Amino acid sequence: MCHIPHKRVEARVKDATGTIGEGMKPAPSAGSRALVPILGWICCGLLLAAAVIASGELARRSTLADLRSEAAARLPLSATALRSELDKQRTLPSVLSEDPSVRAALGGEPRAVAAVNEKLRRLQLSTRASVIYVIDRAGRTVAASNFAEPNSFVGQNYRFRRYFEGALRQGAAEQVALGTVSRRPGVYIARRIGATAAQGLGVVVVKVELDDVEAGWRAGGMPVYVADARGIVVATSVEDWRFGTLRPLGRDEAADIRDSLQFGSAPLAPLPLVRDPVEPDLVSGTDGRGYVDASGPVEGGLPGWRLHLLLASDTAVQEAVGLSRFIAFLLSAIAMAAIALLLRRRDRRRGERAREARRAAELEARVAARTLDLGTANRRLTTEIGERERAEARVLALRDDLAQANRLASLGQITAGVAHEINQPLAAIRTYAENAGLFLDRGDAATARANLLTVVGLTQRIADITDALRGFARRGDGALVPVEIEDAVDGALLILGSRIRSSPATVERIVGAPGAVVMASRVRLEQVLVNLVRNALDALGEAPEGRVEIATRLDADRVEIGVRDNGPGIPEAVRATLFTPFATTKPNGLGLGLVIASDIVSDLGGALVLAPQTGKGAAFLIRLPRTSDGWAT
Ligand code: ADP
Repeated sequence: MCHIPHKRVEARVKDATGTIGEGMKPAPSAGSRALVPILGWICCGLLLAAAVIASGELARRSTLADLRSEAAARLPLSATALRSELDKQRTLPSVLSEDPSVRAALGGEPRAVAAVNEKLRRLQLSTRASVIYVIDRAGRTVAASNFAEPNSFVGQNYRFRRYFEGALRQGAAEQVALGTVSRRPGVYIARRIGATAAQGLGVVVVKVELDDVEAGWRAGGMPVYVADARGIVVATSVEDWRFGTLRPLGRDEAADIRDSLQFGSAPLAPLPLVRDPVEPDLVSGTDGRGYVDASGPVEGGLPGWRLHLLLASDTAVQEAVGLSRFIAFLLSAIAMAAIALLLRRRDRRRGERAREARRAAELEARVAARTLDLGTANRRLTTEIGERERAEARVLALRDDLAQANRLASLGQITAGVAHEINQPLAAIRTYAENAGLFLDRGDAATARANLLTVVGLTQRIADITDALRGFARRGDGALVPVEIEDAVDGALLILGSRIRSSPATVERIVGAPGAVVMASRVRLEQVLVNLVRNALDALGEAPEGRVEIATRLDADRVEIGVRDNGPGIPEAVRATLFTPFATTKPNGLGLGLVIASDIVSDLGGALVLAPQTGKGAAFLIRLPRTSDGWAT
């Protein structure tokens, strides 16, 4: 039987409840346990915020990258419009500088001048240039396409213009400037008349106004501007930005520009744009709008020119960032909710497992305790069983001895009767033998033989008696064999033969179950019957009409042998102790006969009972189970 020592069980219980064990870690205090979820929620909040911010930043960068690409893609289109306008107008002064009529006009001859004036007017109309004019070496305008207009350039001196000096010196010069008369800005494209500076007769100038180009930019919907090498806006789709600066100009630089009258009295103030210090291509206007500033050099433009295109970015970025943050928030919240749910489930499962472990440990402890109790009880029982078995063995041995003693006692009592029983046939044998001798002497062989046969019969009788006695004296070996009950009755009556004959009582047999068989030991069954019959004879004593009746009877499942007498019966006081040892009313009695008889019948699976008192005498019943067929074969 399984047995767990108490101490180990106790340790297991404590492990399961978590108070001891777990590598002897101290259990967290209630305060620190309560802090864990709060810290968890703070961490979750921080993570959520980080996810929202990071996703917003990613969205911002991605959107800006898209906008930058888009602005960069649009930039060449705006530049092309400008370049083609300039290229278109550049050929005109080159061609005119070679024109003999222009040279002729420089001579001052009125007809030649008039012809050139007219020529320039027509050219201006057809090329849509702003003004075309010819300046002589001294800087005085000799002829102009607007000769007939009130603001005619004719007679004006443009010696102060840089394009004039530049063209005279280098052959070609271009400059953006505000018209001194028209107050309108334009690109002045100047070409020298004459192959070298020394031969320079004057300069042909075409003023190109970029209104159309700027209108085209404006139609594109995005602010576009061109800044010159000094960072001054010289062309733009936003009128207010004209002559604004990308950086604050130094005082001297600004004064110098003003003195040159290049931009008239324009304040040359910085553009109303704030540039991001980290990402310089991101600018925001004073109206709060944000732009991506794509810029590049203008091929075919004036030296140092740079075209800028501002693509509004604030709305797109805000929308993308907002959407991305919302999605990030949503996804993070869902993920955290899912994690929280999983953690809760895990906690619940852990709790359940812990409870189960506790229950199992408690159960185990109870089982162990019970097992211990049972073990103790079992050991006690085993000891008791051993003692009982030993006691029973002692009782059995004692009973065997008693049975043997009883048999021997019975033998002693019947020895006298047996001697008498044997003496009779012996005397008869002698007589028959002597008579047989006499008959032989007489030659009567037949009678002698008859006598001898009688002798043989008588010796058989003696042999039967001694056999029965020997069998009675022998201890039964306990082996059960089929025994015909009538045979057992015969055997008992044979043993008691002399005792019966010496008694005045009559013994009567009622054969109610001829051939009925029980599983028994014949010797022992006979011993029981001998006891009962002898007791009956004892009780009858010398009574004149004593009668003993031995009756067999067959029931459905048992065989009954009754021994009844008409003696004095069993006194009330004796009845209670009838089957207990040494209860006797006889002076020489042992009080063992009925005890042993009852014991033998029990051993055979039956019972010896005293029948209820009905009238005179006593009646004992031997009840034995029938064998399966119930009959001897
Ligand atoms: P014992 O014969 O040595 O006394 P038993 O056990 O055989 O021992 O009998 C016990 C007692 O039961 C007897 O002493 C007797 O008083 C009583 N008894 C037994 N059989 C009869 C009977 N047939 N009639 C009257 N009394 C009986």
